[in-house]
Amino acid sequence: MNDEWVVAYYAKDPIEAELLKGLLESQSIEAQVSSNGMIGGVGELPADAIETSIKVMAEDYNQARQVLESYEKDDSREIFCPDCGETNFTNFELCWSCGKALASA
Ligand SMILES: [Zn+2]
Repeated sequence: MNDEWVVAYYAKDPIEAELLKGLLESQSIEAQVSSNGMIGGVGELPADAIETSIKVMAEDYNQARQVLESYEKDDSREIFCPDCGETNFTNFELCWSCGKALASA
Protein backbone atom coordinates (compact mmCIF):
# COMPACT_ATOMS: atom_id res chain seq x y z
CA MET A 1 0.00 0.00 0.00
CA ASN A 2 1.75 3.04 -1.22
CA ASP A 3 -1.24 5.34 -1.42
CA GLU A 4 -1.47 6.34 2.18
CA TRP A 5 -2.46 9.93 2.99
CA VAL A 6 -0.69 11.64 5.84
CA VAL A 7 -1.31 15.02 7.43
CA ALA A 8 1.43 17.43 6.46
CA TYR A 9 0.03 20.61 7.93
CA TYR A 10 -2.80 22.09 9.96
CA ALA A 11 -4.03 25.26 8.38
CA LYS A 12 -5.43 28.19 10.30
CA ASP A 13 -8.54 28.27 8.15
CA PRO A 14 -9.95 26.77 4.95
CA ILE A 15 -8.67 29.70 2.91
CA GLU A 16 -5.09 29.09 3.94
CA ALA A 17 -5.64 25.38 3.35
CA GLU A 18 -6.72 25.97 -0.24
CA LEU A 19 -3.82 28.33 -0.78
CA LEU A 20 -1.34 25.75 0.47
CA LYS A 21 -2.98 23.00 -1.55
CA GLY A 22 -2.39 25.13 -4.64
CA LEU A 23 1.18 25.78 -3.57
CA LEU A 24 1.84 22.06 -3.19
CA GLU A 25 0.18 21.24 -6.48
CA SER A 26 2.35 23.84 -8.20
CA GLN A 27 5.29 21.72 -6.98
CA SER A 28 3.68 18.57 -8.43
CA ILE A 29 2.68 17.34 -5.00
CA GLU A 30 -0.81 15.93 -4.82
CA ALA A 31 -2.68 17.37 -1.86
CA GLN A 32 -6.06 17.01 -0.18
CA VAL A 33 -7.77 19.39 2.19
CA SER A 34 -9.94 17.84 4.84
CA SER A 35 -11.88 19.48 7.56
CA ASN A 36 -13.49 17.77 10.48
CA GLY A 37 -16.05 20.55 10.56
CA MET A 38 -18.00 18.78 7.84
CA ILE A 39 -19.03 15.83 9.92
CA GLY A 40 -22.65 15.68 11.11
CA GLY A 41 -23.72 17.67 14.11
CA VAL A 42 -22.23 20.89 12.81
CA GLY A 43 -23.61 24.06 14.27
CA GLU A 44 -22.62 23.66 17.87
CA LEU A 45 -18.91 23.71 17.38
CA PRO A 46 -17.06 26.96 17.94
CA ALA A 47 -15.21 28.07 14.85
CA ASP A 48 -11.81 27.28 16.31
CA ALA A 49 -12.79 23.68 16.86
CA ILE A 50 -12.81 23.16 13.14
CA GLU A 51 -9.55 21.72 12.10
CA THR A 52 -8.46 21.97 8.53
CA SER A 53 -5.69 19.61 7.66
CA ILE A 54 -3.71 19.24 4.50
CA LYS A 55 -2.89 15.72 3.52
CA VAL A 56 -0.32 14.49 1.08
CA MET A 57 0.74 11.09 -0.10
CA ALA A 58 3.14 9.46 2.34
CA GLU A 59 5.82 9.27 -0.32
CA ASP A 60 5.55 13.04 -0.91
CA TYR A 61 5.59 13.96 2.75
CA ASN A 62 9.20 15.09 3.06
CA GLN A 63 9.00 17.20 -0.05
CA ALA A 64 5.70 18.68 1.08
CA ARG A 65 7.16 19.62 4.45
CA GLN A 66 9.97 21.49 2.75
CA VAL A 67 7.49 23.48 0.70
CA LEU A 68 5.35 24.19 3.75
CA GLU A 69 8.28 25.12 5.95
CA SER A 70 9.54 27.62 3.43
CA TYR A 71 6.01 29.02 3.28
CA GLU A 72 5.95 29.37 7.07
CA LYS A 73 9.30 31.15 7.17
CA ASP A 74 8.33 33.50 4.40
CA ASP A 75 6.79 36.23 6.47
CA SER A 76 8.62 38.81 4.41
CA ARG A 77 5.70 39.02 2.02
CA GLU A 78 4.43 42.00 3.99
CA ILE A 79 6.21 45.18 4.86
CA PHE A 80 5.11 48.18 6.83
CA CYS A 81 5.04 51.68 5.47
CA PRO A 82 7.68 53.74 7.30
CA ASP A 83 5.43 56.74 7.12
CA CYS A 84 1.91 55.68 8.02
CA GLY A 85 2.52 52.15 9.23
CA GLU A 86 0.07 50.45 6.88
CA THR A 87 0.81 46.92 5.75
CA ASN A 88 1.92 46.56 2.15
CA PHE A 89 3.01 43.61 0.09
CA THR A 90 6.69 43.54 -0.78
CA ASN A 91 5.98 43.95 -4.47
CA PHE A 92 4.45 47.37 -3.88
CA GLU A 93 6.77 50.25 -4.55
CA LEU A 94 4.50 52.89 -3.15
CA CYS A 95 2.35 52.69 -0.06
CA TRP A 96 -1.24 52.04 -1.14
CA SER A 97 -2.43 54.19 1.70
CA CYS A 98 -0.32 57.33 1.74
CA GLY A 99 1.59 57.02 -1.56
CA LYS A 100 5.06 57.37 -0.04
CA ALA A 101 7.87 55.27 -1.44
CA LEU A 102 8.38 52.12 0.59
CA ALA A 103 11.85 51.55 1.96
CA SER A 104 13.50 48.54 0.45
CA ALA A 105 16.02 47.23 2.88
ZN1 LIG B 1 1.97 54.79 4.01
